[in-house]
Amino acid sequence: MKVSVIGSGYVGTVTAACFAELGHNVVCIDIDPGKVDMINRGQPPIYEEGLEELLKKHAGKNIRATTDYDDAVANTDISFICVGTPSDDNGNIDLGIVKAASKSLGSAIGKKDGYHVVVVKSTVVPETTEKVVVPIIEQASGRKPGVDFGAGMNPEFLREGKAVHDFMHPDKIVVGAIDQRSDDIISALYANIKCQITHTDPGTAEMIKYVNNSFLATKISFSNEIGNICKKLGIDTYKVMEAVGKDSRISPNFLNSGAGFGGSCFPKDVKALIGKAKELGYEPGLLESVINVNEVQPLMMIDLLESRTGELEGKRIAVLGLAFKNDTDDIRESRAIPVIRALLDKGAKVSSYDPMAADNMKAIYPGIEYCDSAVKALEGANGCLVMTEWDEFKGLCSEFKVMHRPLVVDGRNMIRCEDIEYVGLCW
Ligand code: NAD
Repeated sequence: MKVSVIGSGYVGTVTAACFAELGHNVVCIDIDPGKVDMINRGQPPIYEEGLEELLKKHAGKNIRATTDYDDAVANTDISFICVGTPSDDNGNIDLGIVKAASKSLGSAIGKKDGYHVVVVKSTVVPETTEKVVVPIIEQASGRKPGVDFGAGMNPEFLREGKAVHDFMHPDKIVVGAIDQRSDDIISALYANIKCQITHTDPGTAEMIKYVNNSFLATKISFSNEIGNICKKLGIDTYKVMEAVGKDSRISPNFLNSGAGFGGSCFPKDVKALIGKAKELGYEPGLLESVINVNEVQPLMMIDLLESRTGELEGKRIAVLGLAFKNDTDDIRESRAIPVIRALLDKGAKVSSYDPMAADNMKAIYPGIEYCDSAVKALEGANGCLVMTEWDEFKGLCSEFKVMHRPLVVDGRNMIRCEDIEYVGLCW
């Protein structure tokens, strides 16, 4: 099939590359000419394991990129909207980018002969596809939904870092379509992927995505709260959760306590669901607590650090890990961000190391020290905070000897070293 993918970020580029790998002809659309050039050269605009190989294999053959909606839409049968859906100042979903992309898409559909299908892959709150996107397309194109164009919502569940693998081997595919014709066309794209498709309406598909992320975030905040109680009791929360996770009703996943969740999805999606619930007159107390626990959690590392070092003013503190999780350069909502802010507010000098995310963090904290190895960041430090679960941090031990005081506050339960002053966040 001929597919266009709007937005060449994490989701859009992975979707485009994987559809190309599945044998479809793909056109990527982005407003950023730099990203368009990169894709046309076979270079991914973001890092994802396996993505570069796919783009190199398909660029110039069955994948190309453009900034021109009219060209992309005229030459494809179906368009996926994969643009960002950030939070607004109140934490509610900001649909501005989705609306702008829908308008451009609608206008291009209006200039094209024949039927076109519009699919929302961006994470959007329930009712958005039918009450926001479809009416914008209808107005901008002058065409009728269900007659001249089809529409649907196809949420994305990939994990950053493992996105290509997850796209090709999903646990679930959800297609929420406005009618059978749209459903058949969207579902046909996934024919070569071994996975049962959940067929539903757009609102249910939108809700499935939010419930998925909110439930996982709830598991993490729950585990962090239990971890904080365990810490006060001197009980190892990892032993507790290992046993609890053996209950098949619970599962062992997402029970690791630590510095909390970040990334472009969990914090914003839980907040967006809270905002939607409130708009409907419901107070989602549990979801509010999930966010509150997550905001306090990384700052507890600062309390633990200060309880050992005293005042942080003038002290050199090493922060290991800047990405919101391992195997990505993405720092959005990384728990390292509030931690560095707190360290700077307290007058500490921050040295940092991350195998991939330093350049992105420079945009937020240009003034801290960025080192090209853990050892350099640790040199002369009065304390170290471990923020991201990078594999290379697991083996650190003798490296801590270069610190002024080998004090390590571990936010990810990954340092195994006898010769240091070790403080676990919840254990
Ligand atoms: P992103 O910010 O990385 O990428 C968005 C892209 O859209 C950018 O390249 C930007 O230049 C482009 N863009 C902006 N306005 C545009 C327009 N009018 N026309 C064309 N392109 C435009 O975002 P992302 O992380 O890929 O997320 C996209 C959506 O997918 C969001 O709704 C997000 O919640 C959801 N999602 C993300 C993940 C993830 O792990 N990142 C997982 C599942 C779902």
